[in-house]
Amino acid sequence: MRVLFVASECAPFVKTGGLADVIGSLPLALEGCGTEIRILLPAYPSLSELASNATSVAHLEDFFGGQAEIKSVTADGLHLLLLVAPHLYDRAGGLYLTPAGRDWPDNYRRFAALSFAGAEICSSGVGDWVPEVVHVHDWQTGLLPAYLSQRPDRSPPVVMTIHNIAYQGLVDRSHLSELRLDKRLYTPDGLEYYGEISCLKAGITFSQKITTVSPTYADEILTSDMGFGLEGLLRARRDDLIGILNGIDVNLWNPETDAALGRPYSVRSHRRKRDNKFDIETRFQLRSSIGPLFCVISRLTQQKGIDLLLTAIPRLMAANANLIVLGSGDQWLEQQLQVAASEYCDQMRVVIGFDETMAHMLLGASDAILIPSRFEPCGLTQLYGLRYGAIPIVARTGGLADTIIDANHASLTADCATGIQFAAGDSAAFEHAINRCCKLYQNPSLWSKMIGRAMRHSVGWDQSAADYHHIYTDLVSWKLKSTAV
Ligand code: ADP
Repeated sequence: MRVLFVASECAPFVKTGGLADVIGSLPLALEGCGTEIRILLPAYPSLSELASNATSVAHLEDFFGGQAEIKSVTADGLHLLLLVAPHLYDRAGGLYLTPAGRDWPDNYRRFAALSFAGAEICSSGVGDWVPEVVHVHDWQTGLLPAYLSQRPDRSPPVVMTIHNIAYQGLVDRSHLSELRLDKRLYTPDGLEYYGEISCLKAGITFSQKITTVSPTYADEILTSDMGFGLEGLLRARRDDLIGILNGIDVNLWNPETDAALGRPYSVRSHRRKRDNKFDIETRFQLRSSIGPLFCVISRLTQQKGIDLLLTAIPRLMAANANLIVLGSGDQWLEQQLQVAASEYCDQMRVVIGFDETMAHMLLGASDAILIPSRFEPCGLTQLYGLRYGAIPIVARTGGLADTIIDANHASLTADCATGIQFAAGDSAAFEHAINRCCKLYQNPSLWSKMIGRAMRHSVGWDQSAADYHHIYTDLVSWKLKSTAV
């Protein structure tokens, strides 16, 4: 089975969030199911060295304002197709943002181009490699199935995964022809979303199958509260929508072999976490905590409930806990966190920025990880928390609800609790959850058992990769039948 992934980021090469982790790890798991994956990615500056060692496999003349080529290379076990288009991707700044932190004004063109290149590969293949299925991810690649629908040739079926429905890629309709979109597609049943082009809506409309990243989120996005205006369309496509839980790369995220940890540890030796905790508290000049060391590793946004975290800080400090926050995002939230850190300088630190090594270190040192998201399609940091025995304290929403077993009376009695859940968006419930955590922490045997269960909890891709493989196989047989008719 040959599947083309098209995505805007892929770990470890280029990452701003969980999408990159999924694109960098799911293909490895799928290979184990007999699926051959190629990943089409923009050649951002961080990929330039890789691109210079890659083999050119296609030239795209007059490509959205310049010349482009597709280059093929294998790195870290992943087969990459790099879309080299300097006029679109080779610039200082972020993947999506200017150095000043605003969206690149031509993002609509940059990601339409990525989608268009994906459609070209569907038609022409790369050498003798022709995809049987295309798997697109989020709004940045949503136009790909729309481009395929414009082609008379036999296109492969498309799976679209929604990683976060809040980001939809709305584009002024005046760009329709510049983006090489047939104006006949610009209808309420097609690309149009209240007078604009919606890339995510295009993906949902023109793909054969839609997946999202957890079963609970698949239900949530059918509601007006969480569907961000696309709930009607999704309800109409309910039979084609399925929630498949994300997994993680358990080799990359392994506390037994993690080079970022001063003291690696296993389920059996998890008490060594204490030494990591001591080291990090010393490094950050925090007083040695009597209570748990909490961490947060997150985009600093309202979605992630960072405002709720700000409200809960006095409660945490009163419980004699320590807190280290690693993140970046909303400037006001960054500032408020820094204000709190200077007020509680013995107990709290904030590291503004994106630091992969620090994320590993924090997981290896912390007793618990706080994830107070208002909504969370899947969330990966709770899975890393489980793997590293940093007990996840999570809002009961999306994938957080699907992956963490709350330490209530029933689950503690049945010996299966792995974390703490609380009602999403409710700051009193969040503070209560922190209290519950501190209380459990004071009971060493209960706490130690919970860490063991968390670390043993299955967080890899096995089941979910098999589910995706199943979808691909079904689509290929459906395509065969429909072309035979
Ligand atoms: P998102 O909605 O941001 O994609 P996820 O929980 O799905 O949230 O994934 C976030 C990913 O980004 C995780 O791998 C997490 O460890 C990582 N991450 C988030 N913020 C930072 C940061 N400041 N430094 C390092 N890694 C980060």
